[in-house]
Amino acid sequence: MTDIPLRAQEKIQIVASFSILGDFAKNVGGDRINITTLVGPNSDVHVYTPAPADAKKIADAKLVIINGLGLEGWLPRLVQSSGSKAVIVTATTGIAPRKLGSDADPHAWQSVVNAKVYVANIRDALIAADQTGAAAYRANADAYLMKLDALDREVRDVVGQIPQARRKVISTHDAFGYFAVAYGITFIAPQGVSTESEPSARDIAAIITQIRTGKIPAVFLENISDPRLMRRISAETGARIGGTLYSDSLTSENGDAPTYIDMVRHNIKALTSALSN
Ligand code: ZN
Repeated sequence: MTDIPLRAQEKIQIVASFSILGDFAKNVGGDRINITTLVGPNSDVHVYTPAPADAKKIADAKLVIINGLGLEGWLPRLVQSSGSKAVIVTATTGIAPRKLGSDADPHAWQSVVNAKVYVANIRDALIAADQTGAAAYRANADAYLMKLDALDREVRDVVGQIPQARRKVISTHDAFGYFAVAYGITFIAPQGVSTESEPSARDIAAIITQIRTGKIPAVFLENISDPRLMRRISAETGARIGGTLYSDSLTSENGDAPTYIDMVRHNIKALTSALSN
């Protein structure tokens, strides 16, 4: 035997398509895995352009964790060009997708109950890939799932304190549909479930009318979107800017939302302070 630190070398190489999945995997995999995230903090997974280095990351991975539901349209070609033999793990397997016309809404992680399904899928994939770590993955997942249960209760409590008539907001793109269904806040967005296409002048005019007739108190910025559209809508309607919501991406370590749990807490705090009075 040599003195090479085998522990570091033996870690299971995992690639996650974007930051929220990376955080789930970190919580389940602990120190048995080495996690690489393709779409980093404050970046938009809908319109990502893979870098040459991403193919190498995928080629070296044992598992590639993706959201699915059409979120990572750029990924199949990347996997193919990398020649990777990695197992592709679709973290939304088992979640009934919210449908918008013929499109599935990919933002299932915005319901904490769904986040638990993501975590269970990631746990099962890690166990299948690394049997030796099964007990560790189960213990880590159990501990994290308990935190998510507590988080889900917290969201319900906090939203429950917002007067019913004020539970409506404007967000930039339609990323909070699952949150809306789970927790009872109405979200209206000028941009659809993907950020790929810009809203039309007609879409924006319709939103402005809705804000006026529905007396919608606040509009929100997003960390992944250009703030100018929301600033304009706010100026035209008098609906105030309620802050920034984190929809599709975590922040860096020193930001407001370096983890999924921080992200959800940040969002409910921003929503309650803008909507409560
Ligand atoms: Zn999105």
